[in-house]
Amino acid sequence: MDVDPAAVKFTFDAGCFAASSQCGFKGLVNQGATCYLNSYIQTLFMTPETRSAFYNWRYNEKGGTKPEYSIALQLQRLFARLQVSSIGAAQTTDLTKSFGWEQKNAFQQHDVQEFIQKLYEILEATSKGSKLGEALRRMHHGVEQYYIHCLTCDTVSERETPFLNLCLEVKGMKSVEESLKSYITPETMQGDNAYRCGQCKDKQKASRGVRFKEFPYIFSLQLKRFDMNWNTNERVKVSTKLTFPRILDLKQFTPKQDGQPLNYELYSVLIHTGVASAAITMPTLRISALENGMNLMIRE
Ligand SMILES: [Zn+2]
Repeated sequence: MDVDPAAVKFTFDAGCFAASSQCGFKGLVNQGATCYLNSYIQTLFMTPETRSAFYNWRYNEKGGTKPEYSIALQLQRLFARLQVSSIGAAQTTDLTKSFGWEQKNAFQQHDVQEFIQKLYEILEATSKGSKLGEALRRMHHGVEQYYIHCLTCDTVSERETPFLNLCLEVKGMKSVEESLKSYITPETMQGDNAYRCGQCKDKQKASRGVRFKEFPYIFSLQLKRFDMNWNTNERVKVSTKLTFPRILDLKQFTPKQDGQPLNYELYSVLIHTGVASAAITMPTLRISALENGMNLMIRE
């Protein structure tokens, strides 16, 4: 068969020169400042349930989204490249293009928390009603309940809200357990900060806090490694040690602490290396529960 040389298009692909890993895993080419994005994609890829949900999803042009702007389709293709391609590292340009990012965006540091939130919002919106949308919601969404308890009339005002990631304090904490306990410890509203109770029709002393109603299948925690130094107006990294266990029983952080343990097993950690100003990566650690089939992921 004759080949028209004009029809042969050569595309430079940095991934071609990356050495293949001996264990068969592939890398992702850094576009400039996309290390956090790549780390997160690798975590998603290494989550069998997530990968399977994307593989079982089918792109439908009638949905109105062009293939190049379908994040779900581009992630699906990228996962396939990571799984079956013979090159050592895959490009993420098609994926970032589907976000609407131009090349210059790939050289900007983005807020990871914001990025993931956005990514899920778009993914859920575009896959709404599909098995993929349902799977993502079921795997990653938990429910927490904010409450204010008037200590005078005992009235409790509650509001439930879904969560995708939990941001945990590192500063002043020694472990993830300590940080989670601090997260659910209520604060007292009094004095100038007293609660205006609708029942008492007056400002009253109250207790305000949050409690977990439902943990997601994959529980994802982000550790606040960055703080602001207001004297220098610079972002600084909190480098103190924070421990986390291999198995974490989340039952201790729920209102009802009796009954079966709620064991989650740690299986993924993303570690940020570098200085605060130049890095964005959040360490992600994921814990999957063995006994009850749930999973937990934590990011630092
Ligand atoms: Zn009251």
